Amino acid sequence: MDNSNSVPRRVAVYCASALGTHPAYRAEAEALGRAIATAGLSLVYGGANSGLMGAVADSALVGGAEVIGVLPAVLADREIAHAGLTRIELVGSMHERKARMVELADAFLVLPGGYGTLDELLEVVTWAQLKIHTKPCILINTQGYWNGLLQFLDSAVNEGFIKPRYRALLQVAANAEEAVSIAALTS
Ligand code: AMP
Repeated sequence: MDNSNSVPRRVAVYCASALGTHPAYRAEAEALGRAIATAGLSLVYGGANSGLMGAVADSALVGGAEVIGVLPAVLADREIAHAGLTRIELVGSMHERKARMVELADAFLVLPGGYGTLDELLEVVTWAQLKIHTKPCILINTQGYWNGLLQFLDSAVNEGFIKPRYRALLQVAANAEEAVSIAALTS
């Protein structure tokens, strides 16, 4: 699907399978679900019911949004699949999941998270660098959670490992509403 220069219809959200220690993280995930629903967008995410993943899905569903989960079958067997989604796609591996989410979505939004979220974020930005897609990648910097990563990326530019124009592929929003607005403007 070529979505360049079009209004986004579906946004993928990458985020933690945990809730994090501060209530602001869950509140941001819920605000993001609401903002997606209010903007008339669909949510594509990892399909689990835990942590910030469950929070963003629940909130989008309450707001009336279509929510598509893309879950490796091995994780569904461990009873972590969200039972109330509009649609769940079971895939064979984590690699298939990531490829399918990129295919389905018109923009990528990233809430706080750990290794899994970092993996998804860095892959989707790398794919933008390689022009495998041209869709916006937007970090939601709740409570400055991503400041350490952003500083590291700036140092990687200074050290000559990331070109400034590729550094700019990763946009930063202060909160969920701003991220949805940026996605709508730049998709
Ligand atoms: P993490 O940031 O390490 O919590 O990992 C979150 C990301 O990795 C999610 O966006 C999922 O794609 C994937 N992931 C990690 N743990 C799970 C889980 N228990 N169920 C489903 N997906 C998970």
